Amino acid sequence: MTSVTNNHYDIVIAGAGPAGLSFARALATSGLDIAVIEKSPEHILANPPQDGRDIALTHSSETIMKDLDIWAQIPKSSIGIIRHAQVLNGNSPYSLHFDHQDTDKDYLGHIIANDVIRKAAYDALSDFDNVDIICETEVTSVDTRASAASVTLSDDRVLHCSLVIAADSRFSTTRRKMGIAASMLDFGRVVIVCQMHHELPHNDTAYECFHYDKTLAVLPLPGNNSSIVLTLSAEHSQDVLKMDAETFNQDIAHRFDHRLGAMKLTSERHPYPLVAVYAKQFVTTRFALIGDAAVGMHPVTAHGFNLGLSGANTLAQEVRCALTHGEDIASASVLETYQSKHQRLSRPLYVGTNALVRLYTNDHLPARILRQAMLHLGNALPPVKRVIMDQLTKIETSST
Ligand SMILES: Cc1cc2nc3c(=O)[nH]c(=O)nc-3n(C[C@H](O)[C@H](O)[C@H](O)COP(=O)(O)OP(=O)(O)OC[C@H]3O[C@@H](n4cnc5c(N)ncnc54)[C@H](O)[C@@H]3O)c2cc1C
Repeated sequence: MTSVTNNHYDIVIAGAGPAGLSFARALATSGLDIAVIEKSPEHILANPPQDGRDIALTHSSETIMKDLDIWAQIPKSSIGIIRHAQVLNGNSPYSLHFDHQDTDKDYLGHIIANDVIRKAAYDALSDFDNVDIICETEVTSVDTRASAASVTLSDDRVLHCSLVIAADSRFSTTRRKMGIAASMLDFGRVVIVCQMHHELPHNDTAYECFHYDKTLAVLPLPGNNSSIVLTLSAEHSQDVLKMDAETFNQDIAHRFDHRLGAMKLTSERHPYPLVAVYAKQFVTTRFALIGDAAVGMHPVTAHGFNLGLSGANTLAQEVRCALTHGEDIASASVLETYQSKHQRLSRPLYVGTNALVRLYTNDHLPARILRQAMLHLGNALPPVKRVIMDQLTKIETSST
């Protein structure tokens, strides 16, 4: 898949992360010629290292991944199930509960390690000769005009195409090169993620514990294992990263009130600075942003990849529709339809998530009262709970 003699493609995608690969897979059966440009070496795409992220997936994402044959590449033993969720506020014994029995499904969602998703997306492309993945190469410039586009690579090669896609992360250099501004919200916090084994079963329950300036999420993995997501100030994150494993084990078990008994670190601890990003526009002439390059979410509501996958799927459907009608796959109408659908879906989730983060990391009295009131309101009013449950489980595709 890496040796390339062709310099003409229909679509060139910058970035072979989960969004770029999913978009390529969504169009792999269309017959279009696609190049995916990735700066990492191919052996990393084929066997990505663990990066500590365990991705909570909605029912809609599961459906899309099944349609794209990505789900079939994932070993069953790597898939965790979320049947219940609890939101806890500070030291209050009161919590907001979500249960799959309140829905028409057997579970609220699944949880799968990011490296497993990345490998599955890569493997799902292995049979397509019309998709070239060009590794250890970067996009150095993009030129898009009314009639065609071209992309210059770091090895000086120039690829000609109809449509250029940026899927090169929330700090997308391709977005910047195209002059598309993005609003960035630096929370001044770091999230530390890792996996832990524990004494007691989690009963497929996901926990989100808000302790004012720190939050702890404990998400159920297969067996007596959980994904730990600890959010804290940059200063405190250094102390936590430097802790020896035994001290860390005790610290997390204590923060979690020993609900799962003794806990033991089973992976490295990975720090991620928390910066949310929303691009001012998702498209311009023969160019579109997808995945985190369009919308980079705070991970607390676990929407990032779910949204990225939904957006990639929507754009692929618009491209297919144009192809079926013999129209330009990168026309303004194709791109603007994608933009308006994906903005309509992502904007409320982005704004809502950022507001939630501010509320739950603010230790002032009015915020504490409002938090507690929200938990009671959420439990007492079925319609409020239903809205939150829908957000947890669905993320409708922006195409609907
Ligand atoms: C701690 C944490 C927990 C998360 N949990 C969840 C969750 O539970 N649910 C959820 O839905 N989402 C979650 N997310 C978000 C999810 O991980 C991201 O939304 C998703 O990985 C974004 O995929 P992407 O392909 O857009 O970007 P990325 O994964 O950032 O991939 C970008 C790719 O582009 C390549 N690249 C970058 N620059 C260039 C260049 N110039 N040229 C060529 N290639 C380039 C990179 O090497 C990389 O392969 C979480 C994120 C974090 C940090």
